[in-house]
Amino acid sequence: MTVAVYPGTFDPITLGHVDVAQRGLRLFEHIVIGIATNPNKQPAFDHATRLSMAQETFADEPRVEVAGFGGLLIDFARQHHAGAILRGLRAASDFEYEFQMATMNRRLDATIETAFVMAREDYTFVSSHFIREISAMGGDVSSLLPEPALRRMKNTEITSDFPDSGVEKSPH
Ligand code: ADP
Repeated sequence: MTVAVYPGTFDPITLGHVDVAQRGLRLFEHIVIGIATNPNKQPAFDHATRLSMAQETFADEPRVEVAGFGGLLIDFARQHHAGAILRGLRAASDFEYEFQMATMNRRLDATIETAFVMAREDYTFVSSHFIREISAMGGDVSSLLPEPALRRMKNTEITSDFPDSGVEKSPH
């Protein structure tokens, strides 16, 4: 088993994601980062931008490929001849959703295994969601994002997801 797909929204890609992918490279020869179109999540960055951020982040790593997908994750894994799905775990709160997803995917195709890795301790609190919120309120997220994501974050007006935050647009 040498290929794994690493699916997610990557809205935007964070150093937590990067760390998970790098750990995955210790287990798998090739990783395909799958950027989901996720129309019901209404991502802050459009699909093409999320793809470019990830592609530029891994431009110097030939063992990491970035591709988009819109259908079933299992079909995406099969297309790339992947034997595994790579996911990251931060805290117990991630577990229930990840458990359901892994179990459902195993029901759909028992030959594809889900592998979990934990990111570095200092990234356990890092999520795309909180990075968007902090950035929308003018906070500094420069130590949490790879450069291609940071650059786009600075040039994009992010609207806070919190209805009562009182901040509608990024000051950038
Ligand atoms: P999704 O919408 O599928 O949750 P995300 O882009 O938010 O997509 O996350 C993709 C995967 O990366 C998930 O398995 C998530 O738990 C994992 N992940 C994200 N950030 C971190 C982090 N800081 N540490 C460990 N895993 C992470």
